[in-house]
Amino acid sequence: MLIPGMQLQVPFFRDLATVRNPQSPFTFLNYLKSKNRLDQFINLRNFYPTRIEYHDYLSWVCEKLTHVTRFGCKVKLITPIWDKKGKTIEKLEIVYEDERDESVGSYIAENVVISLGGEPYFPACAKGFEDNNRVIHTASLLEKIPKHFTNLSENYHFIVVGSGQSAGEATYYLLNQYPNAKVSLCFRNYSLHAIDNSPFVNQKYHQSSVADFYHLSSLSKAKALQDLKASNYSVMDLDLLNELFKVQYDDSLQQKERLNICAGLSLEGIISTDSYAQVDAKDLYNETTTSIRGDAIILATGYKQDNYKEILSGLDEHLIKDSAGEYLASKNYQIQKHPSMQASIYLQGYCEHSHGPSDSTLAIMSTRAELILEAILNDSSSFMKRKEYFNEA
Ligand SMILES: Cc1cc2nc3c(=O)[nH]c(=O)nc-3n(C[C@H](O)[C@H](O)[C@H](O)COP(=O)(O)OP(=O)(O)OC[C@H]3O[C@@H](n4cnc5c(N)ncnc54)[C@H](O)[C@@H]3O)c2cc1C
Repeated sequence: MLIPGMQLQVPFFRDLATVRNPQSPFTFLNYLKSKNRLDQFINLRNFYPTRIEYHDYLSWVCEKLTHVTRFGCKVKLITPIWDKKGKTIEKLEIVYEDERDESVGSYIAENVVISLGGEPYFPACAKGFEDNNRVIHTASLLEKIPKHFTNLSENYHFIVVGSGQSAGEATYYLLNQYPNAKVSLCFRNYSLHAIDNSPFVNQKYHQSSVADFYHLSSLSKAKALQDLKASNYSVMDLDLLNELFKVQYDDSLQQKERLNICAGLSLEGIISTDSYAQVDAKDLYNETTTSIRGDAIILATGYKQDNYKEILSGLDEHLIKDSAGEYLASKNYQIQKHPSMQASIYLQGYCEHSHGPSDSTLAIMSTRAELILEAILNDSSSFMKRKEYFNEA
């Protein structure tokens, strides 16, 4: 979603280091300084960098960490390494495939932090369309749209499904890229809504709020997440909403209707042929069904966060789950374990239900990492005790 001009929904202070240690060499401000853009960035008077600039910041950090990173390797499985008596799992073997030559390798570790991110979510009726050229998840928008819709002046009809930030950004991108195209933006709600990033709500995204949230009952956690839904899900940045509204208004002056807002529609079915793509939907407010036919369907349907479960499946009987079948993570994100397991596994980004709304965002990236590192250092025996190894960052 590196669409030119689109901004991050989190201030740059919540980068990989600042909140934890503003003096770290890995701060966004240090990145700006080293790129000779600090003065100019200050002139923008904006806390929210573009996604493109933030991506460059992350790449800049990566370049400094080549001694501890290895790219192009897909972890397939984590398997146990038992002690000599065969009673406890002392260590873990992380088995990976090197995507360059398909060779298989492994690392041995006492501690593993899982942070694989999410995977594009295709709703049930879109299953089987993952590789379809007319049914495109926003995760591959910038790869597939220019490739399959090459004529920028063509009057394509794109159907965007969803009402969150990605839906808004995809709509904005398509309207700008294809000035003669029509975009039908379909979503379940009665209206599009602005993200609630007001200060009291934002406080719930602080690391200090995680501790409060963690001690709530499961029922209260679900209630709190529902209450905070408008701070992250099915909502758009207000500036983006204003931009889209302006497009619609300006078009109306020219008797054009490029942006077609289709509220209250729930996706029921998808058809894709050589010449068109079609959405079948239930109209939730008029209790009817409707079909919209166009050139492509853009699924802004979000991401699923359960891709790590398969990797851990071989360790299941040694890890503790809650009543909903989710791994039970302690306050410091370690998966709770049975006595048969000595090695430790930590989760980054999969604990929204237990640790609160910030878990699936960048908001607590640095402080959560600090908590996990502290837990590992307190827990471990050999090499990891060398705290000074990490002090630099
Ligand atoms: C479109 C989009 C926009 C977003 N915008 C914002 C925003 O504005 N503000 C905000 O706070 N948050 C935002 N988020 C959320 C934010 O991106 C995540 O919180 C953050 O990226 C999580 O970091 P991560 O390192 O845990 O996962 P990721 O950044 O997703 O990185 C996971 C990495 O693991 C790799 N991987 C996956 N499987 C394997 C495997 N088996 N073996 C090896 N590697 C693997 C992936 O290739 C990827 O490089 C956005 C998310 C998306 C999808």
